[in-house]
Amino acid sequence: MVKEIKRKSGRKADEMRPISAKVGIIPNADGSAMYKSGETIAIAAVYGPKKMHPQHSQNPAKGTLRCTYSMLSFSVTDRIRPGPNRRSTEISKIIEWALDPVVMLDNYPNMVVDVHIHMTQADAGTRCAGINAAAMALAHAGIPMKNMVSSIAAGKLDKTVVLDLDKYEDSDFEEGEGSTDIPMSFTDDGKLTHIQVDGYISKEQLKQAIEMAKKASGKIYEVQEKALKEIEK
Ligand code: UDP
Repeated sequence: MVKEIKRKSGRKADEMRPISAKVGIIPNADGSAMYKSGETIAIAAVYGPKKMHPQHSQNPAKGTLRCTYSMLSFSVTDRIRPGPNRRSTEISKIIEWALDPVVMLDNYPNMVVDVHIHMTQADAGTRCAGINAAAMALAHAGIPMKNMVSSIAAGKLDKTVVLDLDKYEDSDFEEGEGSTDIPMSFTDDGKLTHIQVDGYISKEQLKQAIEMAKKASGKIYEVQEKALKEIEK
């Protein structure tokens, strides 16, 4: 049983924002996709596999997955200075780590697969939306993958475990104990490929949050799969 909490958005504790997805949105890319969750929109474009430059970055044992995350200047109300920063560098790495366990690049030594992820609108949950868009774009590009990856955050608002915090809940909610945000990524057979914990949570509630996100990841997978099938028509 999920305890009821009054959320500003009117969502139930275990209710995620409305989601949608589209594959094949950038004709010039080898693979591309869009993933929307509420007011958060991610687009991803895949280029490659292609020869890795500079040469000293090449890995002769297998290909490299290289993800670049950025938020567009006007994706939030306070304009963001263009160009990489500490946060975007960290999120780029996290997206790589979340996808690395499923991407099979053994047959691409010395090559790189570039994934560019842009947030056109950001209302929290951008790394998760970026991972969802990137996973679809990789599949669309025909990169061999063991599984699809679906990502969503769960967390805590005051004392209640909730799914999919929006910007207000993530950053501005100050009642009681405040909020905790836990972005996670799952394979379509329910294995965790990424988890981050931003804030405090008990072991028991962390387990609940993981279960809640895992269940939601199944729904995200259905939307991703449908979007991928639609492009094949
Ligand atoms: N944000 C912002 N300016 C920034 C960075 C973040 O307004 O320079 C907002 C944006 O809405 C983002 C949210 O804060 O989605 C939460 O950011 P966080 O770093 O927690 O990552 P996310 O939840 O987006 O993965």
